[in-house]
Amino acid sequence: MTPLHPALDRLLAPARADRTAGRTRWVSLRPGALDDVHGWLAAELADAEVILVADAHTYEAAGEAVEARLGDAGVTVRRLVLEPRPGDDHLVCEDGVIRALKTVLAAHPTGFPIAVGAGTVNDTVKMAAHELDRDYAVVPTAASMNGYTSLIAAVLVGGVKRTLPARQPVAIFADVDVLAAAPPYLNQAGFGDLLSKPYSDSDWILSHLVRDVPYNSAPAELLDEIFKELLDKARAVGRADQDGIRVLMETILLSGFSMTIAGSSAPASGGEHLVSHYWDMEQLHHGRPLFGLHGTQVGVATRASALLFERLVALEADAIDVDAAVARRADAGWLDDLEALHDTLSADIVAEIRDQLGQKQLHGEALRAELERVRAGWPEMRERLRASLMPAARITQALREAGCVDRASTMGVALDHLVKTLRVCRHIRSRYVALDLMDDLGLLDGWAAEVAHELETT
Ligand SMILES: [Zn+2]
Repeated sequence: MTPLHPALDRLLAPARADRTAGRTRWVSLRPGALDDVHGWLAAELADAEVILVADAHTYEAAGEAVEARLGDAGVTVRRLVLEPRPGDDHLVCEDGVIRALKTVLAAHPTGFPIAVGAGTVNDTVKMAAHELDRDYAVVPTAASMNGYTSLIAAVLVGGVKRTLPARQPVAIFADVDVLAAAPPYLNQAGFGDLLSKPYSDSDWILSHLVRDVPYNSAPAELLDEIFKELLDKARAVGRADQDGIRVLMETILLSGFSMTIAGSSAPASGGEHLVSHYWDMEQLHHGRPLFGLHGTQVGVATRASALLFERLVALEADAIDVDAAVARRADAGWLDDLEALHDTLSADIVAEIRDQLGQKQLHGEALRAELERVRAGWPEMRERLRASLMPAARITQALREAGCVDRASTMGVALDHLVKTLRVCRHIRSRYVALDLMDDLGLLDGWAAEVAHELETT
């Protein structure tokens, strides 16, 4: 049997020792891992009744097989195949479905929930289990996102996507055969989501250097080695070869843990994620289908982040014009135009944006003091960023080798829409990122146009 990645094994050890609720203590990651579910259950939760939660696709992909194996082992299985809301063609992780699942779980207080699925089903079960303070396990059906081992879930609340605190599954049964058989665009999305790592980390480092935000290098170090291996395996991921899919899933599980260690999504979610979130907010507001899966969008946006960072670290300290920057942002008057800047979003969301942006945006003398500090320390700051960045060309190559979407236009995002998103998406979250510095320096508008053009033509 292939041993578990040593770093992953190490991360499971504390919860394995004391069976911490809501923390992952068991991972099977191998071809045939579906066979491990009943043995683990028998050892850990003898006589447990299982509540198997899937949607129609994931039930077919793995749920049916898990149910059959558990049935053969004498385990009672209650099957719950979640249906999309009327009018939707696919299941969405939203408050309504979480509520319905909680009702079922509450009616079976001794039932052990097993989620069979990827982002949507996992997050739905994760939230319901967490709100009831119950543990759960997951059988991933695709390596499509890095949320399996994170302590957060992406939930649509009243039509607005939120990231909510949640828990880890206590056990993960990632069958490489199941993952490799997933529709390729799902695993490609997982690959795209992970590519953001050098840039998310650089955003975090910059926020530490500029704003004294506490920084921890452990999350990035956890992924340094396997990230390079993953890039080298891009073609194998694209072909859904077992070794490619295995490394992809290992990286996904480690990436989720990196957020758990950090206590926030900072190591895996920087400016590139804001681009993707912005597109989702617009599409949801207009009742239109999303442009792509989270990771598909993040992969494309990561190319833009990489190109923007290349411009930022090429900037010389002498070129930082603090007077001009402060003249542009002398006071908060420009925030009166936020409605116009975000004319594709609802008034409620713009109100929320105003609050988020207000928490980080400086003006006048406060901005001057910050930018003077940046200018004085810039040679060291940019060296520190360079050490964590990766050339944009390497990211583009990896996306293409894995067969991922590499242009916004392929997803239906027009060039001017991409430019606009790059210019304003930083407003939606209070966390300081490189886009903030670029904009404060008066460089973002021009760079956004250049980078969007480069992304679409090279
Ligand atoms: Zn992500």
